[in-house]
Amino acid sequence: MADMFCFQCEQTAGGTGCTISGVCGKKPEVANRQDELTGALIGLARAANGKTPGKSADEIMMQGLFATITNVDFDPARIDEYKRLAAAEKAGLGGAEDFKAVNLFNGDTNIVSLRSTLLFGLRGMAAYAWHAHSLGKDDKEVTAWFYRGMRAVGEEHTAQEWLGLIMEFGKVNLKCMGLLDAANTSAFGEPVPTKVLLKVEKGPFIVVSGHDLHDLKQLLEQTAGKGINIYTHGEMLPAHGYPELKKYAHFKGNFGTAWQNQQKEFSGIPGAVLFTTNCLMIPRPSYADRVFTTDVVGYPGVKHIPEVNGKKDFTPVISKALELGGFGEDRQFAGINGGTELMTGFARATVLGVADKITLAVKSGAIKHFFLVGGCDGAKPGRNYYTDFVKQTPKDTVVLTLGCGKYRFNDLNIGEIGGLPRIMDMGQCNDAYSAIQVALALANAFKVSVNELPLTLVLSWYEQKAVCILLTLLALGIKNIYIGPSLPAFISPDVLNILVEKFNIKPISTPEADPKAILG
Ligand code: SF4
Repeated sequence: MADMFCFQCEQTAGGTGCTISGVCGKKPEVANRQDELTGALIGLARAANGKTPGKSADEIMMQGLFATITNVDFDPARIDEYKRLAAAEKAGLGGAEDFKAVNLFNGDTNIVSLRSTLLFGLRGMAAYAWHAHSLGKDDKEVTAWFYRGMRAVGEEHTAQEWLGLIMEFGKVNLKCMGLLDAANTSAFGEPVPTKVLLKVEKGPFIVVSGHDLHDLKQLLEQTAGKGINIYTHGEMLPAHGYPELKKYAHFKGNFGTAWQNQQKEFSGIPGAVLFTTNCLMIPRPSYADRVFTTDVVGYPGVKHIPEVNGKKDFTPVISKALELGGFGEDRQFAGINGGTELMTGFARATVLGVADKITLAVKSGAIKHFFLVGGCDGAKPGRNYYTDFVKQTPKDTVVLTLGCGKYRFNDLNIGEIGGLPRIMDMGQCNDAYSAIQVALALANAFKVSVNELPLTLVLSWYEQKAVCILLTLLALGIKNIYIGPSLPAFISPDVLNILVEKFNIKPISTPEADPKAILG
């Protein structure tokens, strides 16, 4: 019998499943606990059936699911604590039987595929719902769907019923992404186009990774006037576009590229690093003493900043940054193509603010096509497809992007159309919501369906947030999506056939052939 089984992310061993240890570094003792936690959350959902679970039950449901996302929590003690809390909430609701962890990924291949698709989507949505919750925003339908979805994961269904549940989930996840969009923009303002430098100034600094803007805001407040500069990393880059974050003079720029390069980029870094969410890789000895985690992120032996009464005290991170002292001189860094500055902040308000201009440009033929090249970055070879794809897009096309996959090309200068850059960064992965709003607005302006727009989605996936976004796009009926660098291991051949038949979903081929096929 295998030591563990996990096939939820793109880098899964052999393209089929991690069975001895995770390629991500997850050990069987954590993987098996995460399966048990999933079983316990199904038990909690069962206990909550027909009842009104309280805030603490909702929180453990979201946190527990979030903690099982790839590269989030490697700490068995923390997973045990989530299990304990889930059991206590379940008992408070009258109790119910947990789902047997051993059955999660066993059984008929197609049913396992469909069950896993829903479960992984729920894990992704939990991250978005949790970020919104930490900014005080909840939605009854979204919260209730975690219970409905987890009960469903623990039940038997026909393939048709599973597909129905998955499409229903996709629609709820759109609502969840809208909730997070509202939480972020009401707290920090509508993002505006912003240039971000890849230079680290001399002196103490802190690098903030992950997606949680609320954590970043608290850190910016606590470091103001202390002679410490703050830099984003990975998915935190779009934070520079938000007025209520960019107003801090010590919020300087971006350090590093996408998550999979962190072990090289953080080696010997003379600053502190805070992980607010994924993707945390196993910290190497050359920098492990300066890494901090917060929220659901965890790694054994890495210092964790807890939340106490709704606040986080980042003093240990600040002290470490001051102790390390930073670089002695300003250091210029570059993106993977050698560029030294990035642009972000092209969220829906900015793009829709120039909708008339865009509509005219499409009508006049100045803009022939839009590509949404978005999603996750990752370590597996083949992801340079996305760099080459963007380089080969014709000059009369626009590249919208989001997620950390953009680090493959966001330092390229591929020119402008009508005063707008040809590459427009719409934000983090959850800002797929922004892209959907723009697509719907364009479809409305041209009085066509989204599928009739001159728009093609070319997506890169890695973990479960990409799964929930994909399910939302499918639930919206969006067709002809290109997906890579490889197809999910948890999608069985029969399920893939359904997706191809219904949505014409396609694996990426080559950066030469795909644009030709798309543009004709
Ligand atoms: Fe393997 Fe990915 Fe699961 Fe990690 S998260 S154990 S790499 S499938």
